[in-house]
Order: sequence, then structure tokens, then C-alpha cells
Amino acid sequence: MSEKNLIKNGYRKYSGDDIDIYFNIDVCQHSGNCTHSNNEVFNVKRKPWIIANNGKKDEICQIIDKCPSGALKYIKK
Ligand code: SF4
Repeated sequence: MSEKNLIKNGYRKYSGDDIDIYFNIDVCQHSGNCTHSNNEVFNVKRKPWIIANNGKKDEICQIIDKCPSGALKYIKK
């Protein structure tokens, strides 16, 4: 999905140098997969709760690919 469509569909952007992460809270099932996988990138006790530059691009892709709801998306740079 293009960034334009992600934003149109309610996703918020969290920019990084190598990858941009997008999140839609209305879609999230709060499974905790993302936060358990990498708490440096995904940490709900922090604002912003997603910091793309705190992780490696490939690892972030793997985590987001396992998001059960589709609430997380990414676009590699
Ligand atoms: S893995 Fe996806 S569904 Fe689970 S908490 Fe993270 S964003 Fe929400």
C-alpha cells in the first residue's frame, strides 16, 4: 500500500532513516507481539511509542510481517 493510501486509511507515520513504520490504532488487536519482539522500537510506555531508528530494518520488517491484525505496516527506503 502506498503512503498516501495508508494515511488515507487512518495510519500514522513514524519515520526512520531506513524504514518508515505506519500504525493504525483502530486496527490493532493489542496482542503485544510487536512490543515483546523489540521493546526499543515498540514501547507503549513512551511517546512516540514507535521509534524506527531504534531497530534494524530487516528485523522491523520481520516483526511487522507477524502483526496479526495488519495494524502495523512499513515502507522500506
Ligand atoms: S503486533 Fe500488531 S496487533 Fe499486536 S500489538 Fe502490535 S500492532 Fe497491535
